[in-house]
Formats: sequence, C-alpha cells, structure tokens
Amino acid sequence: MEAVTKTDVLGLSPEALTQFVVGLGEQPFRAKQLFKWLHQRGAVSFEEMTDLGKGLRAKLAEVAVIGAVEKDLEQRSVDGTIKYRFRTHDGKLVESVYMPSADRKTLCVSTQVGCAMGCTFCATATLGLTRHLTPAEIVSQVHAVNREVRKNEGLQLLRPLTNLVFMGMGEPLHNFENLKAALELLQHVDGPNFSSRHITVSTVGLVPMIERFGRETDVKLAISLNASNDETRDRIMPVNKRWKIADLMAACRAFPLKQGRRITFEYVLMAGVNDTDDDARRLAALLTDVPAKVNLIQYNENVGLGFATTQDNRAEAFRAILDAAGVAAFIRANRGRDIAAACGQLANVSKGAALTPKRSVAAGP
Ligand code: SF4
Repeated sequence: MEAVTKTDVLGLSPEALTQFVVGLGEQPFRAKQLFKWLHQRGAVSFEEMTDLGKGLRAKLAEVAVIGAVEKDLEQRSVDGTIKYRFRTHDGKLVESVYMPSADRKTLCVSTQVGCAMGCTFCATATLGLTRHLTPAEIVSQVHAVNREVRKNEGLQLLRPLTNLVFMGMGEPLHNFENLKAALELLQHVDGPNFSSRHITVSTVGLVPMIERFGRETDVKLAISLNASNDETRDRIMPVNKRWKIADLMAACRAFPLKQGRRITFEYVLMAGVNDTDDDARRLAALLTDVPAKVNLIQYNENVGLGFATTQDNRAEAFRAILDAAGVAAFIRANRGRDIAAACGQLANVSKGAALTPKRSVAAGP
C-alpha cells in the first residue's frame, strides 16, 4: 500500500509542486528544477535528475512517484503515422497517435480510458467508460511521444511535437478539471510551452462545458458535429438527445473566440447517413453566423459497427456545396488507416480484429 501514500508530482501545478518541495525542507528553486525535469525533459525517474543532489533524489523516491503512462506497444503506418498504446499504473490501456507531416508534428491525445458518449460509429464507444485519465496521465502521453520522436528522428529539440489535438479516446470536456490542469502544464513556459494556437480540443457538444471551456482556457475549440439535423444526430450521437443542434450552435455563437480564430467543425461522412446534397446545404445554413471551418473526414470503417465510408466523388460534391455557400471546407487526409489509428478507430484492438459493441451508453457527464 506504500504507493497509495506517495504524491504524484507529475500532475501537480507549479505552485503545488513548490509547496510540496518546501514541505520536504527544500528551497523553492528546487521545485522549478524538478518541474523542468518532469515537463521539459519528460523524466520518468528521479535518478536521472542529476542536478538535484543525491539526498533530495532519494527523499523524492521515498515520498513521491511520477505517475506517467508507460509505452506498451507501437504500430507504424505506411504513411508515417505511429499509434502508441500506453499502460497506466493500474493496467489500463490508452492510445495516442503521432502524425508527422511536412510542416508539423501533431499528437492526438486521449483524455479517458474508453468513453461514455456512445457515438454509434466510433470504436472507442464500444469500450464504455472505465475512468478519467489524471493530469499526469494526459501530459505523459505528450512527454513520452516527445521522447520517442527525439530518439527516432535523432533530434536534439526538447519538444519536437508542434501541435496537440485532444481527439483521442474519450470526451475531453467530460473530464474537464483534469484536462484543464493538463493544459496548464503543457502550456507552461518551464514545461513544453505549447502555444494556445497549437492546441485544439474537440467535443461532441457538452453545451454547459463549452461555455466553461471558453472562460477557463485559451486553446482552440473543435466540435464533432457529424449531422445536419437532429433526427440523424440523435441516431448517431446520443449526446444530441440532451443538447440539440440549436443549443450547440448557440453555445458556439457565444464562444469567446480570440481574434482571427474560427471554430473547427468535424464532420465524418458516412454513406447514406449524413452525406447528401441536402445535408451539405443544411450544414452550410447552420454555420452562416459562426466563424467556422469544416473538416470533412471520410469514415474509417470499423468492423461490426455497420457504417460505410463516403466515396471520394460524393465527398468532393459535399465540399463543393459548402464552398459555394461560403463555408471553408476541407477534405482531411485520413492518417493511419492501416493500423486502425484513424479518427474513431481507437479501441485497443489490433488491426483486423472485429469489434463487439458491449453496450450503448447514455451520453452526458
Ligand atoms: S467519437 Fe469521441 S466522444 Fe464519441 S464515442 Fe468516440 S471517443 Fe467518445
């Protein structure tokens, strides 16, 4: 039971870490050194913190832990995408997806073990929700992949990742407190120091939380919309039974956007479900008074869920209707399809394994 009483220093804010270090009888500047080791270098043990002195390192090992996730598995796609599977201290599995491109290195981060939202097209939904990830478990996905990229690509840069998207397993705003604490660590100048412009959080539309998210953080918002009317959205995203599209759009219009920013609307195109010309026209109408851009994603098929992808010509016709209506719309390249790392495919199963939906979970926190 010893571990239970130890403090997880990785999830502490700089202020809390200072209090903790001072409580050990150390000078406050030691906390800053420790913070840098944890969040700039991604240290996973106290032994490697060579400028802390042996006595302090031994003391820390006695009373503290670094609650980082550990790499369990990696799968590499032909397109350069790498899916990492991480194991938490209690044996839970979560996935993060590294997507390098010519001008950026993006990590898709998970915020929960499984998900409670029950979107019927999504592999993660079949897991149900096991638990929220802690701030330490969220930030350590980023630290671990920074280390991997440094090693794999022979880079000296402490933080080779350039962009973070919170679109992995889980609904980030369902775990808002821990998400917020993690963002503070990831944006800290003595940590990875990500700019708010380079972090995007995606939500299915927990309406009251969108308002709070806008007030308490400064990162970018994406809405996973996926339907142009309530009838379809009710069917594929149970959260819509609680907050209708009109409620969601009202929250988007009220969102405190920073200058020059737009809200991204993610729209997964599924054949015969939400990809008609009428859908495109209704979607354009929904977005007329919101600074928006639309990412169209051709559905990544998950065995057993019963949805099919929209073909290229239909996706392009859909995009053209949005374009003609003055809505910026882009067909997003699917990354990592061959390793089940693409949007909606994260479910801790190997390529080709069939998914058996366990339950359909009511939406909402
Ligand atoms: S799409 Fe996102 S919110 Fe919906 S079930 Fe999947 S992980 Fe959860």
